Amino acid sequence: MACAPALVDRHGREISYLRISVTDRCDLRCRYCMSEKMTFLPRDALLRLEEIALIAERFIARGVRKIRLTGGEPLMRRDALDLARRLGRWIGQGLDELTLTTNGTRLADHAGALFDAGVRRVNVSLDSRDPGTFRHITRTGDVARVLAGIAAARAAGLAVKINMVALKGLNGHEIADMLAWCVAESFDLTLIETMPLGLIDEDRIDRFLPLTGVLADLQERFPLVRDGHNSGGPARYWRVEGTETRLGLISPLTSNFCSTCNRVRLTTEGKLFMCLGQEDQVDLKAAIRSGGIAALDQAIDSALDHKPAAHDFRIERGAAPAVARHMSVTGG
Ligand code: SAM
Ligand code: SF4
Repeated sequence: MACAPALVDRHGREISYLRISVTDRCDLRCRYCMSEKMTFLPRDALLRLEEIALIAERFIARGVRKIRLTGGEPLMRRDALDLARRLGRWIGQGLDELTLTTNGTRLADHAGALFDAGVRRVNVSLDSRDPGTFRHITRTGDVARVLAGIAAARAAGLAVKINMVALKGLNGHEIADMLAWCVAESFDLTLIETMPLGLIDEDRIDRFLPLTGVLADLQERFPLVRDGHNSGGPARYWRVEGTETRLGLISPLTSNFCSTCNRVRLTTEGKLFMCLGQEDQVDLKAAIRSGGIAALDQAIDSALDHKPAAHDFRIERGAAPAVARHMSVTGG
């Protein structure tokens, strides 16, 4: 693969991580993520598989070492596994890791194929193990399917990290049990504060649960020690001492770690967003369609010049989102 200048933004941050939203569609309707009657993009607005692959490969040539496929629900896109197979070929040839964030509803069918494509770790969203609460939060979901998907992932040889959005009055009381379950199953757990992205049907302030208080509660029940692991993202880590479980906290509203941000995000429509919480973007689909790889490189360079110093999330905005895009479009 032809080499090109490395990806360093104007704040000196090296970009080594690309997240790709392969579809904005989803079979669930998590309350903090989407409205019940969510409108999805027309299919012809999406990047074609070939275009996603070309863009991803250009990022690998320019120093990206980790790629995450996400969405929406990535396993809802019919050719998602073809994409995983194609990108998986770069593992060990510039790419260190190909991973996936999924809601787990289709994982039982695809875990083996993901492993064969080179995926070794998956993040599975599981906001509750209680069937009623899970259905309430996701509006439509069946937790048994997700648990079966998680079991299949483990059986296929994939390491599992559980993602849980902390929601006041909905699942706050389940967090300690979720951590105990993750310890018993040797899964990692990442807790996430709800972020003001996209219009939903509710006011996010009602559900916002600051993780500072959650951590203090967990420290009373579990021997938590700080873990030096650094993914270059907003998460900070603890380890449950004497176990294999790492606890991550993503708290962009109560703490801000943008100064070490190493990632950019490609949307379903082919726009490159340099920050989940800002509007700055360049249109890579237009670039690649009009001028091929040379135009793509130029567009990527221009994107780097515009990567913002920090997001601007503030929960006091209440129902008003910091940005209009839903996480499912940008890729969470
Ligand atoms: N559908 C897949 C899933 O749920 O794992 C992948 C996409 S989803 C957008 C990725 C992650 O973003 C999930 O863990 C989800 O819980 C989280 N998420 C979605 N909207 C969010 C929001 N407004 N604030 C915080 N986390 C959010
Ligand atoms: Fe779908 Fe994931 Fe959003 Fe839930 S969080 S609605 S599973 S994209």
